[in-house]
Amino acid sequence: TLSFEAFKSLDKPIDLSQIDNHGAEKAKQLIGEALKSRVEAVDHDICGVGEEDAFFVADLGEVYRQHLRWKKNLARVTPHYAVKCNPDPEVLRLLSALGTGFDCASKAEIEQVLKMGVDPSRIIYAQPCKTKSYVRYAAQNGVKQMTFDNADELYKTKQLFPDAELYLRILTDDSASLCRLSQKFGASLDSTAELLKLAKELELNVVGVAFHVGSGASDPKAFLKAVQDARYVFDQGADLGFEMHTLDVGGGFCGETFEAMAAVLSSALDLYFPPNVRIIGEPGRYYVSTAFTIACHVIARRTVADATLGTTSYMLYLNDGVYGNFSSIIFDHQNPIPRVLKSADQFKYDVGRSGYDTPSMTEYSIWGPTCDGIDVISSSCVFPEVLDVGDWLYFEDMGAYTKCSATRFNGFTDSHDVVYVCSEPGAVALLGY
Ligand code: PLP
Repeated sequence: TLSFEAFKSLDKPIDLSQIDNHGAEKAKQLIGEALKSRVEAVDHDICGVGEEDAFFVADLGEVYRQHLRWKKNLARVTPHYAVKCNPDPEVLRLLSALGTGFDCASKAEIEQVLKMGVDPSRIIYAQPCKTKSYVRYAAQNGVKQMTFDNADELYKTKQLFPDAELYLRILTDDSASLCRLSQKFGASLDSTAELLKLAKELELNVVGVAFHVGSGASDPKAFLKAVQDARYVFDQGADLGFEMHTLDVGGGFCGETFEAMAAVLSSALDLYFPPNVRIIGEPGRYYVSTAFTIACHVIARRTVADATLGTTSYMLYLNDGVYGNFSSIIFDHQNPIPRVLKSADQFKYDVGRSGYDTPSMTEYSIWGPTCDGIDVISSSCVFPEVLDVGDWLYFEDMGAYTKCSATRFNGFTDSHDVVYVCSEPGAVALLGY
């Protein structure tokens, strides 16, 4: 177990191999137990409205492990967690205790982070097109760091917050990312000189450059090019007399490709930015995606008999869908994988997946609860068992861009319970559980 004291000394050389995946094995067991006990507590025949609602199990130990992995692979980069990705209060509390910064996109996010007692200097208001009253709020509360990418925003800043510490967000090649952001934000390299000149004329304080290679990025070369471009703009700023001291490398990191991305980014940083330049990042999905599992209840079933083929398949209707926590299917291009949690009163969390290779598979399509035909979670999947109303499914990797963009469409709830577990004793200690 790595204690907080040991963790704080991570900047000194330490054998990180001893802490890798410390609680990963334990995590499965804890999540399975939490899913089971919550579902077992529901008596579907008599329960009150909402008691059988979908719910999350969050393993805060996974967030902790991701942080250690970050420190190991990107030691130079101070993460500023992108709150928009999942503003879960316990996740924020843990990250705050771990000493990360926060990337906030709105007044509400800034307020949520400040209310935890986080110093305003640990927040970056990373939104190049800001609401005026939000800028006033940031100014009143000492949240100085903010991004811009256009001249109008500079005039706005001059009027509302002339002391702000500004980062010029530049355009990136985000063509290999899941969610492209550069269609909307980022100054092209042929406009940066003019923007910096204007900032100088307005006597504003530009302190660095920011970029984002797109959420769910898959090409490490995008980081290399972005770092090279950032160097070019850094020099432009320095030539105009700005004290350029920080580079913000944004988000875009995923668990699957993290080491490869981090290796390219780290060597590019070492090549183009000397150690005296402070480097920050804005990871979102990287921290939370794998930490959240959701359980959903089968509320209805429709039997589809094909007389010609002589087959029977089923349409299953769950109590959560694309207007709820599966909003990630639409907004985040995700493809959540359904798995059986409970059928015929048996719990099947993480058991028998190997046994799923049976010849007698039943086909399903899986739907959300609203009246809209777009509300489909999986158009085709198979399970060995015949599922029915009252059974439960679960979906892993549901922590990023899910509950934060859920709606109340059709009168369903947008607020689902989270059962917290913690597979890392180090994180338990930090959280004071
Ligand atoms: N920073 C900014 C400015 C963003 O817009 C986003 C996502 O949209 C993020 C950080 C987080 O990105 P990711 O979740 O890919 O790490």
